[in-house]
Amino acid sequence: MRYIKYFLLGILLVLIVTGCVGPDRSDDLVVIDAGHGGHDCGALCAGKQEKDLVLQITKKLAKEFKRKGYRVYLTRGKDKFLKLGERTRIADKMDAKVFISIHANAIADKSRFEAVEGIETYFLQKTRDARSQRVAARENVAVLQGADALSKDVIIDSVLNGPKIVESNKLAIDVQNGIMRQVRSKYKDARSGGAKPAPFYVLVGASRPSILVEVGYITNSKERARLFKADYQERIAQGIVAGVGRYLDNRKADSGV
Ligand SMILES: [Zn+2]
Repeated sequence: MRYIKYFLLGILLVLIVTGCVGPDRSDDLVVIDAGHGGHDCGALCAGKQEKDLVLQITKKLAKEFKRKGYRVYLTRGKDKFLKLGERTRIADKMDAKVFISIHANAIADKSRFEAVEGIETYFLQKTRDARSQRVAARENVAVLQGADALSKDVIIDSVLNGPKIVESNKLAIDVQNGIMRQVRSKYKDARSGGAKPAPFYVLVGASRPSILVEVGYITNSKERARLFKADYQERIAQGIVAGVGRYLDNRKADSGV
């Protein structure tokens, strides 16, 4: 009998060491937000639409989170438009641990399509960086339809100095590192744009760590071809899940829980 106990303990140890048994995530709810939808197609290039790409990745991401034991909620599981505030409000109402919005990047200048590529993860913060401002401005166009300039500034100012900025910054770094590690294990030349601040309105109003992942540029032919491949999408999903896991583990360690 004693030997059986040691035998079972041994098996458990092997499973933990090999990563087959991870931390218990059943209390951790993740809200995943596929950008755009409905009449808002997001970025368009070569017949491909951002809203379709991000929904494909979001579904793979949901599957991967569930496989690791997380609870998952999607702001949209189909091609539909959501109003500003609806996305983060869901995350707050459901008391999510983190909010992740998935987008694909694009540039307007055709002469630079093949020069500009890379994966970036953003958290809400004002920035002086012109490139990050341009990315946020493009993404903000559709969600801000109907809101006047004054109310835009009021809502963004009200959250910019909140405590969630530090946490969102940490989450962005862990997720960006997770994605790059996973993607580069096969696509060695994948470029990282880093974890950066930018004023994305879709992140305004979220009272929990919130990030926006720009999975790559659909205006760059090499990156666009990869982004629509199932294998590449799966790597992005696995990387995001690994990054969130690392962030949550560190947060638990910091708080001593
Ligand atoms: Zn977008």
